[in-house]
Amino acid sequence: MSALFQNYARRPIAIEKGQGTVVTDVNGKRYLDFTSGIAVCTLGHAHPAIVQAIQKQSEKLWHVSNLFESPGQEKLAQTLVQDLHLSYAFFCNSGAEANEAAIKLVRKHTGKHKIIVFEKSFHGRTFGAMSATGQDKVRQGFGPLVSEFITLPFNDVAALKAAVDDETAAIMLEIIQGEGGVNPVTEEFAQAIHEIHQSSDVLLIVDEVQTGIGRTGARFAFEQTVLKPDIVSMAKGLGGGFPIGGILGTAELFDTFNAGTHGTTYGGNPLAIAVSQTVIDYVFNEDFLKSVQYKSEYFIQKLKEALPHLKINGKGLMLGIGWGEDVAPFVTKLDQAGLLTVPAGPQVLRLLPPLTVTTEEIDEAVSILKTVLTN
Ligand SMILES: *Cc1c(COP(=O)(O)O)cnc(C)c1O
Repeated sequence: MSALFQNYARRPIAIEKGQGTVVTDVNGKRYLDFTSGIAVCTLGHAHPAIVQAIQKQSEKLWHVSNLFESPGQEKLAQTLVQDLHLSYAFFCNSGAEANEAAIKLVRKHTGKHKIIVFEKSFHGRTFGAMSATGQDKVRQGFGPLVSEFITLPFNDVAALKAAVDDETAAIMLEIIQGEGGVNPVTEEFAQAIHEIHQSSDVLLIVDEVQTGIGRTGARFAFEQTVLKPDIVSMAKGLGGGFPIGGILGTAELFDTFNAGTHGTTYGGNPLAIAVSQTVIDYVFNEDFLKSVQYKSEYFIQKLKEALPHLKINGKGLMLGIGWGEDVAPFVTKLDQAGLLTVPAGPQVLRLLPPLTVTTEEIDEAVSILKTVLTN
C-alpha cells in the first residue's frame, strides 16, 4: 500500500541512477532518457560540472535567506540578461511560481487585471498559473479561479485583435506550447502580437519554463521570433535538475517590484544559484547552442528517414511527433524497449533529450522508435 496521494499516473519504472542521457532502474535495466525529467536535466544526469558545483557550494553555504545580499544571484542575473533587452531578474523555485511573479508584476505595474492566454497552454498548478492555463482538465474542480484571464484560440489573429482592449494588462504565451502538444506560435501570430505590443501599453509575458535555457537552440525561444517580451518566466532547464525558477523583466518594471512587494524564502538560495550558474555558463555559449541546433537537424533528418509518415513539430531538442493515433500505448512499449519519452496531449509524443545528447544516442533512439512504431 502506498502512503502517497495518487495525484500522478506513475509509470512502473523506478529509476535509481543516471549518467548523461542514460538512466538505470532498480532492476539494472538501461534506458535512454529522452524526457530529461521533462526538459529539466539540461546537461544530462550527474554532469561532472554540476556534481562539482554542488559539492563545492554545499561545503560553504546552502541557505541564508534574502534578508542579506546575494553576490551569487547578482552574477547569475547579469549572465542571464547579458545582450538581451531585459534588465532584471527575480529568483524563485518553480515554473508556477515564476508565472505567479509575472502575473503579479503585470497586475501591479499596469493597475489592470485582464490577461489574455491561449487554449492548450500550460502555466502551472498554483491558483494564478492554473487560472492562466487554457486546459479544462487542469482547472476543473477547484472552485472560483483568479479572475480576468481570457482564453483565446492559439494562433488566431482575428480572435486576438477582437479581444485586446484598453482593459488588457498583458498577453501571456509559450513560444512552443509544451504540455499542450508541442504547438509552435506561427510567424503570423507572433507578428500580430508584436504589433499590438508595440502600438499599445499591453505587456507581454513569455513563459519560457519549458522552451528556455537552450532547449530550442537559442538561449530563449523568443529570440527566434520577432517578440520582445517585458517578462520572461523560467524554471525547468534553469537548474539542470536542481529546483529553481525565475523571471527576467525590462527596466520599466524595476520600480514596481520594490522592497516588500514580492518574495520567497528559498528563492535563489546559494546552492540553487551555484548549480544554475554552472548550467547557464555551459548553455549560454554560442558553440554549445550551435551544437543543439546541429543535433536537432540531425535528429529530424534521421526521424524523417526512418519514419516518413511522421508529423514532426517543435524546435531544437523539443520535438513532438505524431502519426494520428493515441500515443499512450506506444509510450509503454517504448519504455519496455528502453527509450523514455513524454506524451504531450493524447496524440503527440514528446522527445526532450538532454542538450548534451550524442548523435550515437539519437541514432539509438531513432532505431528504437522505428522498431516500436512500425510493429
Ligand atoms: C512545466 C511548466 C510550468 C510549470 O512549472 P512547475 O515547475 O511544474 O511549476 C509552467 N509553464 C510551462 C510552459 C511549463 O512547461
